[in-house]
Amino acid sequence: MKEVIEPKLIRNYNIVGQGLAGSVLAYFLVKSGQNVKIFDSPDIPSSSKVAAGIYNPVTGKRLVKTWLADKIFPFLEDFYPQLEKELNAKFFHPMPLFHPFPEVATQKFFKSDHVHEDFFDFCSVTFETINHQEIVKSSLGGITMKHAGWVDLKVMLHAFRAYFLERTILIESKVFSQITEDTTIFCEGFNGKFNPHFSYLPFNPVKGEIVDIEIQNLDLQEIINQGVFVIPLDKNKFRLGATYKWDVLDFIPTEEGKNILIEKYQKLMKPQMRILSQQAGVRPATKDRRPFLGMHPEIENIGIFNGLGSKGVSLAPFFAKQFVEFLVNGKELYPEVNINRFASLYLGH
Ligand SMILES: Cc1cc2nc3c(=O)[nH]c(=O)nc-3n(C[C@H](O)[C@H](O)[C@H](O)COP(=O)(O)OP(=O)(O)OC[C@H]3O[C@@H](n4cnc5c(N)ncnc54)[C@H](O)[C@@H]3O)c2cc1C
Repeated sequence: MKEVIEPKLIRNYNIVGQGLAGSVLAYFLVKSGQNVKIFDSPDIPSSSKVAAGIYNPVTGKRLVKTWLADKIFPFLEDFYPQLEKELNAKFFHPMPLFHPFPEVATQKFFKSDHVHEDFFDFCSVTFETINHQEIVKSSLGGITMKHAGWVDLKVMLHAFRAYFLERTILIESKVFSQITEDTTIFCEGFNGKFNPHFSYLPFNPVKGEIVDIEIQNLDLQEIINQGVFVIPLDKNKFRLGATYKWDVLDFIPTEEGKNILIEKYQKLMKPQMRILSQQAGVRPATKDRRPFLGMHPEIENIGIFNGLGSKGVSLAPFFAKQFVEFLVNGKELYPEVNINRFASLYLGH
């Protein structure tokens, strides 16, 4: 990865929010020699601090390669290890992800020759569950994703915080609107929905809950994922998630969320487990499932980097770099992520 972007111009930037989006964007701006200040409010909850942090190139019920997987995954596999070195912290955990076939029809599909060849760059398929006999209830086999794993975002954000504090560019304060004549980029996660400059954008936030659990004597070296995921964290300690809820949008864990996770776990996994703790957050998702990047339609010095949805870990590095190349060198943004795709909504609001 070419990390350093040679800028045409040095400007002052304000980044609002030190979640995943704001941290990575600020990092690339600092790397390109820009003057950066980051404003982050400890009173506004952050979904990055709740996220499981999984990256997985093949997703969805139909198990298809995710959007831009061929570009985004090589990029992140370069980016996070390099960042670990620079921030002197360990948060990148590459590991296979096993997706047991939920039903015979899925197994049949993968036995047929309907599957595109390049799918196997990312996966291997097995039609029996010998290695998982003691772990999962399904005996149909499944798919092992190769370029998968998880990022411990709490550890990464903590290390980023130290990096920004050391450079005296992090200010713990809430920002209500545009701050100065400097360029301000709002990276507010779910809170961006209430930003008067960008509330016209079609956000589609989704509440999610996860639990940390204890499973005795389970030596798991991979993520298991089918309906819910189980990530190995530490000896006997695992993370189980996640729920999806669109009607109640808050950061409060619920009994309902916990029961959904228990039920799904029992359907998928054989070993007994015990719940240790529970957390909830709101994913900053969008109606068209693509991120929001770009500048305000009228106020030319304010912009947004948001809408990372449930794929922040895979999308943030690639698009933060693309946004910085746009800001400092005027390179084009991909039209699928540029908020000017919603210009008509702004004019009509
Ligand atoms: C249960 C759950 C599980 C998830 N699992 C995964 C997963 O496995 N993989 C994955 O890739 N993603 C996952 N996600 C999604 C992931 O959390 C998001 O994609 C990503 O973290 C969004 O980052 P962000 O920086 O946009 O927002 P946030 O992390 O919410 O950060 C926003 C920051 O801005 C600050 N802020 C907001 N407004 C202001 C203001 N006006 N002034 C000052 N500061 C402000 C907040 O305090 C916060 O620090 C999950 C989310 C949830 C809830």
